[in-house]
Amino acid sequence: MKNFCFLLCLVIVSCQQSKVQNKVAEQIAAPSDPHSYSRPEQALVKHLDLQLNVNFGSKTIDGKAEWQIDNPAKADTIVFDTRQLKIIKVTVGDAQKRASFNLSKEDPVLGQALKVKIDSTVKKVTIWYRTSPDAYALQWLNPAQTAGKKHPFLFTQSQAILARTWIPCQDSPGIRFTYNAAVKVPGSLLALMSAENPQQLSADGKYTFKQSNPIPAYLMALAVGNIRFKAIDARTGVYAEPQTLEKAAYEFADMGKMVNAAESLYGPYRWGRYDVLVPPPSFPFGGMENPMLTFATPTVLAGDRSLVSLIAHELAHSWSGNLVTNATWNDFWLNEGFTTYIERRIIEAVYGKEEAAMQIVLGARYLNETIERMGNQRDLTRLKLDLKGKDPDDGMNDIAYEKGFFFLKTVENAVGREEFDAFLKAYFEQNAFKSITTERFISYLDRNLLSRQPKLRADIKTGDWVYKAGLPSNMPVVSSEKLDKVDTLVNGLSKGVKFSDIKKQISSLNEKVYFIKSLPDSITAQQMKDIDRLFAFTESTNSEIQFEWYMLALKHDYKAAHPYIEKFISSVGRRKFVIPLYTQMASTPQGKLWAARIYAKARPGYHPVAYQTIDEILK
Ligand SMILES: [Zn+2]
Repeated sequence: MKNFCFLLCLVIVSCQQSKVQNKVAEQIAAPSDPHSYSRPEQALVKHLDLQLNVNFGSKTIDGKAEWQIDNPAKADTIVFDTRQLKIIKVTVGDAQKRASFNLSKEDPVLGQALKVKIDSTVKKVTIWYRTSPDAYALQWLNPAQTAGKKHPFLFTQSQAILARTWIPCQDSPGIRFTYNAAVKVPGSLLALMSAENPQQLSADGKYTFKQSNPIPAYLMALAVGNIRFKAIDARTGVYAEPQTLEKAAYEFADMGKMVNAAESLYGPYRWGRYDVLVPPPSFPFGGMENPMLTFATPTVLAGDRSLVSLIAHELAHSWSGNLVTNATWNDFWLNEGFTTYIERRIIEAVYGKEEAAMQIVLGARYLNETIERMGNQRDLTRLKLDLKGKDPDDGMNDIAYEKGFFFLKTVENAVGREEFDAFLKAYFEQNAFKSITTERFISYLDRNLLSRQPKLRADIKTGDWVYKAGLPSNMPVVSSEKLDKVDTLVNGLSKGVKFSDIKKQISSLNEKVYFIKSLPDSITAQQMKDIDRLFAFTESTNSEIQFEWYMLALKHDYKAAHPYIEKFISSVGRRKFVIPLYTQMASTPQGKLWAARIYAKARPGYHPVAYQTIDEILK
C-alpha cells in the first residue's frame, strides 16, 4: 500500500490540473491515517459517554469510555488507539458483557492498538482504564507551579496524537464523534472541557459536559484547577486563576468583536459560546483551539493588548480546523494555513489594514528564516507532508502556517477578494463537520474557482505551492508602510542615523520586533547596550520582544541579558520560545553547560511536548 500511495502522489505532482488528477484525488480522498491504528472503514465510533475521576495524589485519571459505534462492514473487531493506558476491562452492549480484547506491541510513536472483539449486533463498547502518571497529554502542576501557589492544576494537550494517552479512542483527525462527560475532581477545583462549560464551582467537585457537534479526538480537552470565570460579553468570556483573571479579561476585551468579524466573513459561528482559558505559564503552545474553550498561554498577557492576534488565530480555527478538519496530519496546512489567513482577515477587520500588513510582512520574514534553517530537510517545506513513520509533531513548523497563508493570499490576489471570500464561505458551509484531504481541497478549488478562468491555474501554480519544496516563483510581494520605514531607518545606521532617531519614530510592538530582527549581523554587544538604554528591551515584559531580543543577546554574547534569559526560560514553557532559546544556548560548549544547569531546575515545569524536545537538544 505504501508504494501504491507514493506512486499516486507522483502522478498528482506531474499533472496537477488535469481531469486525470481530479479522478486520482477522489480515489485517495479517504486515505488511511498513518498515525492511527483504527480502521474506520470497518467499524467506527460515533459518540462518547466519558466518566473521569481525576486523582491529583497519584497523578492519574480513572476513566470509563462508553463508545457508541457503527459497524457498516459487519467487522468482527473494532480498533482503538491507546498509549500509556492501563486497560482494566472491556465490555460490549448495554448489558456490559465482557468482551475479549488484546493490545498490540508498543510502538514508540503510535502506542498500542486496542482490538476489541465485536459482532454485527454490537452498538456499544465500554472501556475501563487508568492513565499513567507520565501520560504525554497530561500536565500535572503542583501548587508552586501555578499563579496562586495553593492548588494543583491539570491540563491536557491532545494534538496531534496524544488524546490516546488519556482516552482510548480512534485518534485520527478524519474521525469525528460527539461526547458527554461526567468528571469528578477535588471539591475546591473547577473542571472545564472542550464543551459546554460550568461558570461556577460545584459543591461536590462533580461536573457534566456536553459537546453536541462531532469533533475529532485531538480536540478533546480537560483542565482542572482553581479557576474562575469572567464574562466579556453575552457569548464570550475568560477562565483563569483568580490572580490572572482580571488581566486576561482586560487583554481579551475584543473577543466579541473578533467573533462578529469572523462571522461576517465566513458564516455563522457554530459552537455556541466562545471562551478562553489561560492556564499557568508551562502551557507548551501559544494557544490550542479546543472547541468552545481555547487554551491560551499567559505569555500573551502583555498588558497592552498587543498580542491578541493569538486569540484571532484560535478563534479562526472554529472554521478552519474544528469545522473543516485536515483528514490526516500530512494535510496539516489545511488547518493552519487557512487559520493564519483567517486570523489576519479578523485582525484587519478589527484593527485595520496596516496592523494586518505588518503581521503579514513579519510572517514572510519568519517563513524565509524557516526555509533557510531547514535547508537539509527540504521535504518538510512542502505543504503536503509525508509523515508516515514519523511523529506528526515533526511536521509542525512555520511552513504549514505561513506558506499555507501565502498560497491562499496568492489565490486571493489572483481571483480578487470578493470572489475568494464567497468561495471560502461556501467551502466552510459545504464541508462543515467533515475532514478533508489536500487532494480533495485542490479538486474543490479547481472545480469551484479556477475552472472558470483557465488562466488562473497558470497564475496560481497550485502544484508548486503544495507539492514542491521551498517557495514558488509567484510568492506574493508584501509590504507595510510602518515596517518599510523601519527598513529605511536601519539601513541608515551606517550613514549617520542614530538609535535615538529610531527610538523617536517607532512605537508599536510589530515595529519593535521588526527592528530587532532587522539589526545587522555586525552588531556588537556595546551597540546592544546602547539600544537597551533607549528601549529597555532586556527588561521588557512583552514575550515577543523578550524572545527576539534574547535570541540576539545569545548570538552576540550580550551578557547583561543573561539573568533575564534565565528567568524567562525558567518561568515560561511555550515551545515557540524555549526551544529556539535552548538551541541557541547549546550552540557553544559553555552555553550548553549553562543551559543544562537552568534546565535541571526548569524541566519539571515544562509540559512533556516541550521537555521531550529539549531533552534531545541538551543530551
Ligand atoms: Zn493554529
